[in-house]
Amino acid sequence: MADTPIPLEVRNITKRFGDTEVLKGLSLKAHKGDVITLIGASGSGKSTFLRCMNLLEQPDEGEVFVHGEEIRFKQTKHGREPADWKQVVRMRAKLSMVFQSFNLWAHMTLLENVIEAPVHVLGKPRKEAIAHARQLLERVGLGEHADYYPAQMSGGQQQRGAIARALAMDPEVMLFDEPTSALDPELVGDVLKVMRDLAKEGRTMIVVTHEMAFARDVSSEVIYLHQGRVEEAGPPQDVLGNPRSERLKQFLAPKH
Ligand code: ADP
Ligand code: MG
Repeated sequence: MADTPIPLEVRNITKRFGDTEVLKGLSLKAHKGDVITLIGASGSGKSTFLRCMNLLEQPDEGEVFVHGEEIRFKQTKHGREPADWKQVVRMRAKLSMVFQSFNLWAHMTLLENVIEAPVHVLGKPRKEAIAHARQLLERVGLGEHADYYPAQMSGGQQQRGAIARALAMDPEVMLFDEPTSALDPELVGDVLKVMRDLAKEGRTMIVVTHEMAFARDVSSEVIYLHQGRVEEAGPPQDVLGNPRSERLKQFLAPKH
């Protein structure tokens, strides 16, 4: 049987902002169907690590492989940059990101938001993109909201819309950066439900989250970051159920 390429792998990523090294050699390998959750205190480097994976930030050192293809870098006087931005665009189409601040385009309806990239990046026929978008909106519980503008929807609806928009690219890996942190508590459940369904259907996902029940139930691996390093990593029953590091124990202890 032919080997299927690994959807996403990063090796020894380091990242500095000025003199501060915020990522100190981070690696991660996501096989098909893996759900890897990144946890850690605010400022530990979770977002920066995620942003290095799709090159929204340029790692100073380390390698990024998408679907087995290595991103090529070159050294410039401003530091390290991708050698070929076309390669980055191509590979970004395989990695869809969902942000904390459900950033749908405000001047477009939900449906227009969802078809934008498939039509303009992938060159999909508009009619086909619309049919697919309607299916996806149905799936995230927004079948009735296709013609709404973002401002007419709740935060939870917008975030589910952002997930539909990410899915419309049929991504190989979905990256989530605290997708429920900006939501009112009563809206979190619906978004997590959609994400649980995605995990169940075998989507490869990297998720930065503070939702420990979600992490415990759906993760194949949990990575706990502390100051830009992996402090502990492994299956959720170990990392969350039986943490070894004192720091992680503190982090997981109920706050009051
Ligand atoms: P987390 O997502 O875990 O809260 P971040 O990745 O956002 O952590 O940040 C890690 C560290 O990098 C923090 O100290 C933060 O202040 C710093 N940082 C993040 N982005 C920038 C930036 N664009 N410029 C300078 N420092 C940054
Ligand atoms: Mg963050």
